[in-house]
Order: sequence, then C-alpha cells, then structure tokens
Amino acid sequence: MMTKVLFLLFSLLSPYLLLADGHIFVYHRFDDNRYPTTNISTKELRKEFSYLKKNGYKVVPLIDIITKVNNNEEVPKNWVAFTIDDGFKSFYTHGLAVFKEYNYPFTLFIAVKYTEENYKDYVTWKQLKTIAKYGDIEFHSYGHGHFGQMSDEKIKADMDKGLALMKKHLNYEPNLFVYPYGEYDDRVAKIIEPYGFKAVFNQNIGAVHGVCSDANDIDRSAVVGSNAHDFKLYLKFQELCGVSFQQPAIYPKNKIVKTVEVTLEDKNITSADIFISNNGWTKVKVKNGKILWYANKKVKLNRIKIGVKVKSKIKLMVLSK
Ligand SMILES: [Zn+2]
Repeated sequence: MMTKVLFLLFSLLSPYLLLADGHIFVYHRFDDNRYPTTNISTKELRKEFSYLKKNGYKVVPLIDIITKVNNNEEVPKNWVAFTIDDGFKSFYTHGLAVFKEYNYPFTLFIAVKYTEENYKDYVTWKQLKTIAKYGDIEFHSYGHGHFGQMSDEKIKADMDKGLALMKKHLNYEPNLFVYPYGEYDDRVAKIIEPYGFKAVFNQNIGAVHGVCSDANDIDRSAVVGSNAHDFKLYLKFQELCGVSFQQPAIYPKNKIVKTVEVTLEDKNITSADIFISNNGWTKVKVKNGKILWYANKKVKLNRIKIGVKVKSKIKLMVLSK
C-alpha cells in the first residue's frame, strides 16, 4: 500500500526564469453525456475558446511548444495548445466544427486499434483524413492498454503494430506520443525512448516551461464538464520549475494521504504550501531544504490533486483511483 507521496524538488531557478509557461489542454469527448468524466459540451468549449480570444492567448500547434522545449527556449506564457485523446467519433461529429469556427489548431492522439477495427464510437480512417486538413494526428498506442502491467515485449508489439497502421493508412510517422491513461514508470519510459518521439505526454496537471520541462514527460491538463473556473486557474499556472515526482502516482487505497515529502535543493526556502484535494492548502515548514509533513488527510474524490507551492509557483499532480 502506497500512502506516502514523495516529491523531489531538484532545484529552484531564479524567478525570472519562471515567468514563461505554456499550457496544453486535453479533451476526450464532445457533447457525449454518456461519459461525464471525459466529456465537454460544445457550448462550454465555445466559452473557453472565447475566453482565450478575449484574454490575449495564442493557440499554437502543439509541435511549436515542443520545439521550444527541445531548443531549451522559453515558452511564451500566452501560448496554449489543444490535444484530443483516443479518437472518439464525437470529436469528428461535434468538436471539430468548433475548432474550425475559431481556426484553432489541435493535435488528435489516436488509439489505432479502435479505428482499425471500426468500433462505432471511434473515428474512421476516412474521417481522420478529413481531420488531418485542420490539425495534426499523433500516436496514443495501438490497444490503449495499461503499459505498467504489460511485459516489455507486449508493449513493443503494441507500439509497432499501431505505428505500422498509421504509416499504412495515413502515410505518417508520428512525432508525438501520449501514454495510454497517462500511466508510465521508469521501465515503460525506457521502452518508449528508442522510438525517438519529439515529445511524450502524461496527464498530470501542469504548465510547460521551455527550459525546465522534460520533453519525455510533458504535463497536460484535462478539461471536462463545466470547469471553466479550473480552466482559468490552469491558465494562470506558473509552473514550479524543476519539480519532479519521485514516486509514481498511486492513489492511496484507504483514501488517507499520510505523508508528503518534498526536497528542495534551495536550502534558503523556509516555508511552502501543500494542497490536497478536499483539504485545501496548508502552510508547511521547510527545514534545510526538506519538507516532511505528516498530513494524515482524508480524501473523498476518485481523482485527487496534490500540489506544492513555493513563492506563488505551483506544481500539481493528479492521483486517480
Ligand atoms: Zn487515452
């Protein structure tokens, strides 16, 4: 049982380096009320897009943000990129029109099996060719399995099969990859590395900082239901540079977060704030660069957030049941 969450903060860079951050958002289904936890209404989507337009955000192709990260350049803080995971048909039938209306680029990550085998909830190869006129299509595995529980050979076979089908049907070799369920660990990451993607994405809430983000572990924030408030909150994130989560994100089985440990390389920091879903923010002491907080906090949601804030910069992670 894993009830201890360990954060490692390798370094805190100078404040001016922390100013620039881009944001990447994830959607799944559009106007599909059968699945409220992965759905967004097009009405809500228009609200968000209008918010971006009014507030001076620039929606860029995802690859533009990745190019900045790979060149070690800052990502302008008004940059936003949109991603859509899985390849559900409702993107084609409902979502795409709104993206076209605003002329916003997007990247669709497909789980190839469901298109190849003509599952009725998923886009067809023909529809993908239409979608490709307006945005990019990238890779989200073949079978959308839990890589953490699959053997090395099974993962490789899954990747190879999906990539070959994308080549066959779209004549395309993907540059970008999203872990199914956002799940990965060191072993999985090592298997994916030789494929040479320009970037690999998870689904931890965060912003993208060109200098300190790792192209093999890019955060994205899911936008579902009617969380326009959250949407604005995410947009305001100035990500805490250099935070990485030492342990894989494991949901506490008894719903109690017992201990939160953070290490800061900057030994001069004396206080920080820790956030735990259902419990708000708590001020904690930092001693000699270390936070050891016996939180013992009960959580209620199936999807909880734990965050650390130092000098108004935030890093959040999501633990899902
Ligand atoms: Zn997915």
